Amino acid sequence: MGPTIDLPTVRHLLGSEWSTEGPEPFEHVSPSTGRVQGGFSGGGADEVDRAVAAARSAFTDWRAVAPYKRRQLLERLSALILDARDEFRDIGVAECGTPVRQGGGAVLAARYTSYFAGWADKLDGLVAPLGHAALDYVLPQPYGVVAALVPWNAPVPSLGMKLSPALATGNCVVLKPSPLAPFATVRFVELCQQAGFPPGVVNLVHGGAHTGDLLVGHPGVDKVTFTGGVETGRAVMRTAATNLTPVTLELGGKGALVAFGDVDVQRVAADAVAFSVGTLAGQACALPTRAIVEQGSYERVVVAVAQRFAALRMGDPADQKTDVGPLISADAQRRVLGVIEHARDRDKATVVTGGNSYGGPWGGGFWVEPTLVADVAPDGPVVQGEIFGPVVTVQSFTDEAEAVALANSTDYGLSAFVYTNDLKRAHRVARDVEAGYVSVNGFAYLPPETPFGGWKSSGFGREGGRAGIEDFVQTKNVYVPLGE
Ligand code: NAD
Repeated sequence: MGPTIDLPTVRHLLGSEWSTEGPEPFEHVSPSTGRVQGGFSGGGADEVDRAVAAARSAFTDWRAVAPYKRRQLLERLSALILDARDEFRDIGVAECGTPVRQGGGAVLAARYTSYFAGWADKLDGLVAPLGHAALDYVLPQPYGVVAALVPWNAPVPSLGMKLSPALATGNCVVLKPSPLAPFATVRFVELCQQAGFPPGVVNLVHGGAHTGDLLVGHPGVDKVTFTGGVETGRAVMRTAATNLTPVTLELGGKGALVAFGDVDVQRVAADAVAFSVGTLAGQACALPTRAIVEQGSYERVVVAVAQRFAALRMGDPADQKTDVGPLISADAQRRVLGVIEHARDRDKATVVTGGNSYGGPWGGGFWVEPTLVADVAPDGPVVQGEIFGPVVTVQSFTDEAEAVALANSTDYGLSAFVYTNDLKRAHRVARDVEAGYVSVNGFAYLPPETPFGGWKSSGFGREGGRAGIEDFVQTKNVYVPLGE
């Protein structure tokens, strides 16, 4: 087991200069094997300063580039990302342990890039109706320098969601990927160069929390777009407050899957498994990780989900037959096993299936078995916290009001899923759940045409759709009196 390709050298892009310098050493550890597979230097104040300065100086020219030319560059980038999809898939196998069958996210990133390319020359302003005496119009204008902080999970789609709308609207960008997944972003930025974006329009600084904090607090940054955990989001917002820099926060989730008894149990179980543990080993924000099932079908759903969990294949992510890969790090594995242990030993929940680490044929990696936890304490950490691993809880309800109350009983508000054949009930529950992204009887993996984002502690701001492009412009009202 090991990388199936030569991983790109992890390096910063500061204007037109690639650099491997920096004060903070990092090692990248393979999630599958636990073996070190690369080292690099995280950027410090100097690298952050240089990246922001390069972006600032490129902004004057970049904002003046005709929108249709920005569209053409982004369309070229989209095509390059798509052409490189096998490469991104193999990088995902090596850096995140993402099963090869799930791909490296390039197809979705290319779609986002192409979608936002289309907006580059279509985002118009409006004329305010002040009548005869004045002309009053509203201009959407870029912020300037956007700092984009990306999580380790699904870094490639996240780049498509952030970089392409920022560039389409005439901003310059400094990217800061996670040290847990630095390789895909290097390749992505190489493709930006190949597409022909002028030097300084796209910059890249690697590093962890310290580098991220330096970037967010930099006075030359005009807007922060952040995707990551809730606690990190709070820290980002505190630092951004120093310069009153506006932030978009795309944070964690604890998606409820509310299943009424009128839906076929196997249908519910298939989706509950495929969209949770069957996707990135449960390490994604929008997944349904809390099943809330009507009493009459509860036992049958538990059995059906447990059977499907047990049938999932764990193993070499490079193997086409693998369904579930490892967790990203030893810390993540410890945390997830700790939550399961707490639920079983302290809260007396039932671990229906799974619950253990998994050595795999090679050992050493950060694996946890697909785990279903029933009889849970509603206030316990397994129900309330984002686990970010292959763990699903199951609770029962007796009526619609209780189902909605349970769905709304966490601090998170990112996604919710409703399963019912009753049309009116489907729309009532969709109306009443506290979540920014609701799916009824299915899930579409965040198509770029739709606005995705959180309520409550899951953050604010939207990625995708018209809201996703408007997030990167500020409006300017211009009033011109026409009389003498
Ligand atoms: P994280 O919060 O640990 O890190 C996110 C990014 O912030 C990384 O680049 C990290 O290096 C950087 N960072 C860490 N501390 C920082 C600080 N103090 N200041 C500035 N930057 C800092 O998250 P992660 O583990 O990489 O990703 C998993 C989390 O992201 C989960 O909670 C998941 O739900 C969330 N997520 C949300 C969405 C969404 O769209 N809502 C999408 C994907 C992931």
